[in-house]
Amino acid sequence: NLSGKLDQAFKTLKGQGTITEINVAATVKEIRRALISADVNFKVAKDVTDRIKEQALGRDVLISVKPGQLLVKIVNEELTKMMGGEKADFNTKGDPAVILISGLQGSGKTTFSGKLANMLKKQGRQVLLTACDIYRPAAIDQLKVLGEQVGVEVYAEPENKNALEIANNAIKHAKATGKKIVIVDTAGRLAVDEQMMNEIEELKRALNPTETLFVVDSMTGQDAVNTAKTFNERLDFDGVVLTKLDGDTRGGAALSIRTVVEKPIKFMSTGEKMDAIDLFYPDRMASRILGMGDVVSLVEKAQENFDEEETRKLNKKIRQNKFDFEDFLSQLEQIKKMGNIKDLLGMIPGMGKAMKGLDIDDDSFKPIEAIIKSMTKAERANPDLIDGSRKKRIASGSGRTIQEVNNLMKQFGDMRKMMKTMNKMGGGKRALANLGGMR
Ligand code: GDP
Ligand code: MG
Repeated sequence: NLSGKLDQAFKTLKGQGTITEINVAATVKEIRRALISADVNFKVAKDVTDRIKEQALGRDVLISVKPGQLLVKIVNEELTKMMGGEKADFNTKGDPAVILISGLQGSGKTTFSGKLANMLKKQGRQVLLTACDIYRPAAIDQLKVLGEQVGVEVYAEPENKNALEIANNAIKHAKATGKKIVIVDTAGRLAVDEQMMNEIEELKRALNPTETLFVVDSMTGQDAVNTAKTFNERLDFDGVVLTKLDGDTRGGAALSIRTVVEKPIKFMSTGEKMDAIDLFYPDRMASRILGMGDVVSLVEKAQENFDEEETRKLNKKIRQNKFDFEDFLSQLEQIKKMGNIKDLLGMIPGMGKAMKGLDIDDDSFKPIEAIIKSMTKAERANPDLIDGSRKKRIASGSGRTIQEVNNLMKQFGDMRKMMKTMNKMGGGKRALANLGGMR
């Protein structure tokens, strides 16, 4: 995977005192290879690595910063820029605002429509979902089920075979019932198809939507970029929704789409549940791709689901490099409550790497929990206490092997190291600043 390969690339620089033309060239070449094998468009990969090289050679190496760290920072910055830099705006002004959802069949349009409705409803907006996928009766039912789940009305006319008529009637209905946002879910085909394109083009022209979003499955790699290009030529859409960023998705699509179609990625979707939707933050995506985890998102998710006091404590501990086994355990418990475990774990710095290749579900935590629970309070608070004989005791107390205890200790150590690095780079501060801004 990409973060593993980039890791390898950064190792080339580890232990080197200075950045020189030679070691940067070797590292940059590896970064480029890693990007291309993660489905990043060749030209995009070349452009970004050229910029990384320029940046790396142009900068003075601060005494306190190791070249490897500096390069991680530079790569992070360049990847962020490549994905658009800033978070893009999403416009919902209008009476009503019309959000047109386009994309191939199976890309996740209907699921995303439900999620977007859910998100806007939670913000106190009056939303109407509209079923304009008239070719499959099941598609209407699917949207109805989702609408019911999130408590948003779904407008449908099962007998009507004209998508534009349905959409226009939905807008009338929205006006009559005080709905301020109309989300129009449309039909897609398995591949780009003239009839589908004509239909969505007509919808766009006639409805003049506030936002036209193009939904694309990030697992389709290079194809995602090509499809985006085709849709953009016909629709001139306003933004991209990247779906299925959970699981083993390679980050390549996110990295290339912005550059190739010159349209911002506005949302990302990370699971089948109705709350698995996020605004797209290029800097967070870059950190995630780099395997540093996404502390900011984690803190925000925590904010939503944990009580505030816990969150404040956790944040402070991460900042002071005092994250301990007690925190680890309570994180695991919270995460289990929040669902979508693999995804959430990936947000903890260093965790993405630690669980590479693991098949994670609730049961996967049991050995870890057993081991931590066999530690004394003092050991949990101060993992450095845990020497050989304590490990033996913990292993037999938890019914696990010493090897498993060692593995956990190592993973935990890696996590702490990663958090430390993030703090040095200002990640912790940013997380806090962000948290402050949300209140
Ligand atoms: P549509 O044909 O474009 O409307 O696609 P759907 O919304 O029906 O989604 C197709 C399939 O992908 C369904 O099984 C969804 O549950 C699934 N899906 C959609 N978004 C995501 C996502 O972010 N992650 C995962 N894992 N599955 C998703
Ligand atoms: Mg659909």
